[in-house]
Amino acid sequence: MTIFEDALKGITTLEMLQVAENEKINSKKVVKNISKGRIAIMKRDNFNPVGIGFPLRTKINVNLGTSSSTINIDEEFKKVEIAQKYGADTISDLSMGGDIDAIRRNILSISNLPLTTVPIYQAIIEADSASNVSEDLIFKVVEKQIKDGISSIVVHSGFTLETLNLMKGKRIMKIVSKGGSLTASIMKSAHMENPFLKNFEQLLELIKEHDIVINLGNAMRSGCIHDKVDGFQLAELKTNAKLAKTANKFGVQVILESLGGHIIAKDIINYVKLYKKLTNNRPLFVSGPLPIDTATGYDHIAAAIGGSFASGFGADYICAITPAEHLCLPSLEDIKEGLIACKIAAHVGDSMKFGLNHLFANDLELSKNRFSRNWKKQFEYCIDPTEPEKRHPVSEEMCSMCGAHCALSMSKKIL
Ligand code: SF4
Repeated sequence: MTIFEDALKGITTLEMLQVAENEKINSKKVVKNISKGRIAIMKRDNFNPVGIGFPLRTKINVNLGTSSSTINIDEEFKKVEIAQKYGADTISDLSMGGDIDAIRRNILSISNLPLTTVPIYQAIIEADSASNVSEDLIFKVVEKQIKDGISSIVVHSGFTLETLNLMKGKRIMKIVSKGGSLTASIMKSAHMENPFLKNFEQLLELIKEHDIVINLGNAMRSGCIHDKVDGFQLAELKTNAKLAKTANKFGVQVILESLGGHIIAKDIINYVKLYKKLTNNRPLFVSGPLPIDTATGYDHIAAAIGGSFASGFGADYICAITPAEHLCLPSLEDIKEGLIACKIAAHVGDSMKFGLNHLFANDLELSKNRFSRNWKKQFEYCIDPTEPEKRHPVSEEMCSMCGAHCALSMSKKIL
């Protein structure tokens, strides 16, 4: 039986108990919300499972992996270490260069986080070109990746050939999802229908066998704020909402990627609410969203602002965007900066979702220690404890911002 099937029968599995304990919520609530499709658990043998959905802490994913033009495998492995060290909940291996099988297996061997892949990336590399990709190859790659022990796969199953034909000339940025454009290239060059949509039940059987999560990708996300959330995105969302129901009927857990890309801030709340309504509150994964287009070089900041709104209004899982977004493969420092920005966004989002609950215990302790100017303790409660020390050595009592006129020390004396 899968986790979803167990939950439907009211059975509490070890993974559900672990998620309830990690999140400090009642395990019955976890079981019930899984059975309704509102929580999905990403698991890996012998490691802590990660629950994604309401009412759980907003989770964070870090993308890493080689590209077809930049292959520095050791650096990608160091990114895994950074993701773990600074608190990512999951990682995604998006490798398209080098020995993709070996990279994935190595990542699994050095990390304890749930791992997601996008099998179409490897299928297109193995086939050499989009026109050579067959459905048989796609399914072989999916099976190979699942058997290696990944926790979830992303498929861009929510659009058809007809959608692609309708899009011509209508959008400034066309398709900006890599998995979506690869899938679209295969469909156009081979004149075939979306292979994941066409064979969705066959795919579910494979996924169910290994009880991993299916993540329904957001191929039609808007690539600039002037493309807005249009009919293509909404059609994909409706298709994915139907596919999510089918997946749950098969006993497979689902996460839907949506509302990623670029959306102006004032529209984020409406679209998150619409998403939750159309999907019966299923877990929502967003990349960004970027609320402006002109933050290039600082897109991690723009994404953190969009991500905090999205998570605050209901998104459950957000993807770290780095300062290298739109520019190049991120460096180690970029991965760290993107992850920390995303953690800040998720924490802000959680304060909007839940108010000051147990997730904000560190904020309280930090403030108490800030007031007493216990620098060492104060820094221990920071999201990134390594950064403050670079500016203020804990051995120095005086802070150079106000020097002798420190408001905290004056108010401590007079109040
Ligand atoms: S010196 Fe100023 S900035 Fe520094 S701790 Fe005191 S009040 Fe805060």
